[in-house]
Amino acid sequence: MRFGRLAGPGTVVVEERPEPTPGPGEVTVTLAACGVCGTDLEKLRGNYRTAGVIGHEPVGRVAKVGDGVSDLSVGDRVFVHHHVPCYSCEVCARGDYTFCPTYSKTNIDPGGFADTFRVPRENVERKAVLKLDPKVDWDSGALLEPAGCAFTAIRKVAMPERATVFILGLGPVGLLYARLVRALGASWVGGTEVSPLRRAAAERGGIDVTLDPRDPASVRAAVDSATKGRGVDLAVVATGHPSVAKSATELVRRGGTVNFFGLPEAGSRLDADLQDLYLRGVRLIPSYATTEPDLAEVHRLVAHGELSIADLVTHRVPLARVAEAFRLAGRPDEAVKVTVTGAASAE
Ligand SMILES: [Zn+2]
Ligand SMILES: [Zn+2]
Repeated sequence: MRFGRLAGPGTVVVEERPEPTPGPGEVTVTLAACGVCGTDLEKLRGNYRTAGVIGHEPVGRVAKVGDGVSDLSVGDRVFVHHHVPCYSCEVCARGDYTFCPTYSKTNIDPGGFADTFRVPRENVERKAVLKLDPKVDWDSGALLEPAGCAFTAIRKVAMPERATVFILGLGPVGLLYARLVRALGASWVGGTEVSPLRRAAAERGGIDVTLDPRDPASVRAAVDSATKGRGVDLAVVATGHPSVAKSATELVRRGGTVNFFGLPEAGSRLDADLQDLYLRGVRLIPSYATTEPDLAEVHRLVAHGELSIADLVTHRVPLARVAEAFRLAGRPDEAVKVTVTGAASAE
């Protein structure tokens, strides 16, 4: 079978290897689609501290079932979450599951950009294989992981009711975040994004105002007019660019929250007026990754028609051309979300 692998900085290649077989408690899955994530692009650039496996947003059909697996059957349409916590360490006991030391060590084999991948026993046992509702199509399914990350973040920051929210960076995760806060009752949602294609995707999703970040005066004016000059309840840093974090701290109200959501560039620094943050009581809350209960909740929202996301997938590229998928995903003017597709997508 074929799989996509990083072969040094800037190079992703398709290679052959034997198809994996499931051991006891494991399953294998035939790929339908797997999104190309911003973190995959960072890994390609060699900028990400946790290297290695690429492709972590896969959906497909269960191909084979190992001994002892009782709740999954061959042919089931599933989303697979690549990381699971241990649920038994000190970090997990406090509910900080995504920071469990086990979490980022778990993964699917050899990754999501593969004709068939193996799901380890711990992922199967800890409910990381989610059966898709018939109403959840492959495109929406491939967006569940990033949408789950946004849901986890919104829960973590305890978004107030009827919140005013400003999202800096409307790439795929920023757009999912925007649609989620809208679905969860935010009263006003604005955002900045350089790419007109992505601003249009935000407007389709019911975002109130989208602006070009290269015009900071217009951003300030829009936030002031929506919040009577007070600033937003929640500003979300949904891009890795360091200067954006400082802008976010300036757009929140007294007692408001800045959510660090996008993966920051390695080594980047926050350059903000710390006394101002102190005196205004601005909360800085990072959120990384997602967990099974939050993924299940996002899946429910999509299945019930409360969250519509499928239109964010603008390009579907067959696995044989994985390098092209990466190129496209790195071009914000051409693409919103790019998925790599496999044999199960045709069914
Ligand atoms: Zn991702
Ligand atoms: Zn743990």
